Amino acid sequence: MRAELEIDCGAIAANWEGLRGRAAPGACGAAIKADAYGLGAAPVGRALLAAGCRHFFVAHLDEGLVLRAALGAAPMIAVLNGFAPGADGPAALTPVLNHLGDLEVWAGRGQPAILHVDTGMARLGLDAAEVAVLRDDPSLLCRVPLRYVMTHLACADTPEHPLNAIQLARFTAIRAALPTLPASLANSSGLFLGPAFASDLARPGCALYGLNPTPGQPNPMRPVVRLTAPILQLREIPAGASVGYGASWTALRPSRIATVAAGYADGYLRSLSGQSFGRLAGRPVPLVGRVSMDLLTFDVTDAPPPAPGAAIELIGADNTPDEIAAHAGTIGYEVLTALGTRYARVHHGG
Ligand SMILES: *Cc1c(COP(=O)(O)O)cnc(C)c1O
Repeated sequence: MRAELEIDCGAIAANWEGLRGRAAPGACGAAIKADAYGLGAAPVGRALLAAGCRHFFVAHLDEGLVLRAALGAAPMIAVLNGFAPGADGPAALTPVLNHLGDLEVWAGRGQPAILHVDTGMARLGLDAAEVAVLRDDPSLLCRVPLRYVMTHLACADTPEHPLNAIQLARFTAIRAALPTLPASLANSSGLFLGPAFASDLARPGCALYGLNPTPGQPNPMRPVVRLTAPILQLREIPAGASVGYGASWTALRPSRIATVAAGYADGYLRSLSGQSFGRLAGRPVPLVGRVSMDLLTFDVTDAPPPAPGAAIELIGADNTPDEIAAHAGTIGYEVLTALGTRYARVHHGG
């Protein structure tokens, strides 16, 4: 008996439609790196393509090749981490050029690319000195057919953070100093920072997958993921009995414990031990004892006795990846990308 991961591709498409509305009149792409944040790049990509998305962003060349095979020749697939130094890279993918050396390698090849300038991340992208070199001698730029100039926001999920306006000002100044190119700026949260952050091409990721791009405010996105794990065993334990490794939880009363088939090897983070809930027939049931590799234990004493074969919902509309992440001391992105390969995966509407 395996846990089941349901992915609502219809909800992903609807979320993309909503974000496209915010991105207009610019275009709206999709960040689909890391196997579409763990949800399956091929089915998610096909659903987004059918919804009208024509610009996809992956991190690695290999991710791009998988996506190209799934989507056919038409859409742009950009590789954020660029191609390996000196590597040709397949013509079907669009490299993101992250430093001057990349531009020099790409000059004269005739293959379209995206130029990344850094405005406050200090991770990838041309730094201020490299941008100054281009400003003083734009001939290099003219030798690469650049489709976009992009930058990435560091604090878009914190609207009041001063770095947002600083990055926007730096990006605007860089664009003014270079030959005119279409711009790509906002991630999911960036689309909620106001019209000044709109650009020619948005790159939302997390919000497509149902994570809240406006932390602290109601989530405007539709939930996408439902994870349910079947109950393998039910047992009655007396007061004083402990559950699981380390005997970290001891029953204070006679209790009914449900053991279900998922664990940290499936991305149910071990740091959730004693910190989370599942749902049984819609009612919250506390996770008790430690998360082990393949098993979880829930105290179902207060829930109606489960039917044989009943499942406990681990992630769903009432137990969102963002909430799970808060219990685990992390972010919803990590909860989604940690989802393992052992689930029976069902893509609805994909
Ligand atoms: C991951 C990523 C995105 C998408 O970010 P979200 O916060 O998931 O919307 C956009 N741009 C770049 C460069 C990224 O690495």
